[in-house]
Amino acid sequence: SQSEHETPASAAELDGWTPVYSGKVRDLYVESNPVEQTDAAPSLQAASRVLVVASDRVSAFDHVLEPGIPGKGELLTTLSLWWFDRLTDVPNHLVPDHEQVGGIVRELIPGAVAGRAMLCRTLDMYPIECVVRGYLTGSGWKEYLESSSVCGIKLPAGLQNGDRLPEPIYTPAWKAPMGQHDENISFERTVELVGPTIAVELRTLSLALFQAASAIAERAGVILADTKFEFGADRHTGVTVLADEVLTSDSSRYWDAEAWRTGTTPETRMASFDKQIVRNWLAANWDGTGTPPELPTEIVQQTAARYRELLERLTSA
Ligand code: ATP
Ligand code: MG
Repeated sequence: SQSEHETPASAAELDGWTPVYSGKVRDLYVESNPVEQTDAAPSLQAASRVLVVASDRVSAFDHVLEPGIPGKGELLTTLSLWWFDRLTDVPNHLVPDHEQVGGIVRELIPGAVAGRAMLCRTLDMYPIECVVRGYLTGSGWKEYLESSSVCGIKLPAGLQNGDRLPEPIYTPAWKAPMGQHDENISFERTVELVGPTIAVELRTLSLALFQAASAIAERAGVILADTKFEFGADRHTGVTVLADEVLTSDSSRYWDAEAWRTGTTPETRMASFDKQIVRNWLAANWDGTGTPPELPTEIVQQTAARYRELLERLTSA
C-alpha cells in the first residue's frame, strides 16, 4: 500500500500491453488485445493473464526510495522462479510464457522486460499478507516487547531480538488498500476477512511452505528468518493459488547461518541478505517526515551485492 507522500510509480510503455497497476516495486500489465476478445477495456478484472514486472525500485517503511538498486528486478524474478520450481506441492500463478502457433514458438514476454517479468493467471487476491516467522525480529520483536505475544500468539518469556522461535508461527497482516499501512492482525481477524475455511487453508499452506523453504535454505547455510506469502483464488475453480513474488530478499529476511550461531550482537547475528541494510541506513538518517533522503552509492552497491550473494548461495547449494 502506498502512503500519500510517495511519488507514484510509473510503468514503462510496453508494446501490446496496457499497464493496469503499479505497486511499490512491481508493475502489472494486461494484453492490450487479448485472444479472448471481450468488449471490455483492458483491465485486471477483465484479463485472464497478467504480466508481473519487477522493477529496480526499492521500498522501506512503505516508502519508495531513490535511487533504485541496479539489477534488483531481475534478481527478485530469478529467485521467485527458482522457488516456484521447488515448491510444487502448492499450485502457483505461473502460466506458460510462450505459445506455439503452427509450429512457431512465440515468446509472450516482451524482450524489454525479459528476465524480470512473470506471466501469471489473474487471481482474486486475498487481502492478507501471510507472514510466517521462524525467528523473532522486526515488527514481531517490537510486538513481543510490548505484549509477550505476536498477532495474539503467546511466546515464551526472555526471548532476545533474533532468537529462534520454538516453532514457526503464522502472523498475518491485513493488506491495506492504497494510502493505508499494512497492520498485523490476529488469526480470528483473518477468519472475519475470508471465512474460516480459507483462513485455515492460508495458515496451513503458509506454514508448510515455510518449513519446506527453510530446509532448502539451511542446506545453503542460510537461515530463512521470516517471509510473507500472498495467495489468490482461481477465478474458475476457486482453488487457492500461491501468487506474487515468493521467498525473495524483499519479502523475506535471510541471515547467514554461521554468523547467527557465532554472533554476539543483534547486528552480527542477523547478517542479512535482504534490504535490512537499506532499512538500517534509513532509520539512522531520516526522522520519517517529508521525503526520504537519497540512498548513498555505497548503500546501493552493498544492497545489490547482498541480493546477488543470496541468489548465488541458494542456487549453487
Ligand atoms: P501495493 O500494491 O499496495 O503498493 P506492493 O507494494 O506490495 O503493494 P507490488 O508488490 O509492487 O505491490 O505489486 C504487486 C501487486 O500484484 C500486489 O498488489 C499483489 O497482490 C498483486 N498480484 C500478485 N500476483 C497476482 C496475480 N496472480 N493476480 C492478481 N494480482 C496479483
Ligand atoms: Mg508486494
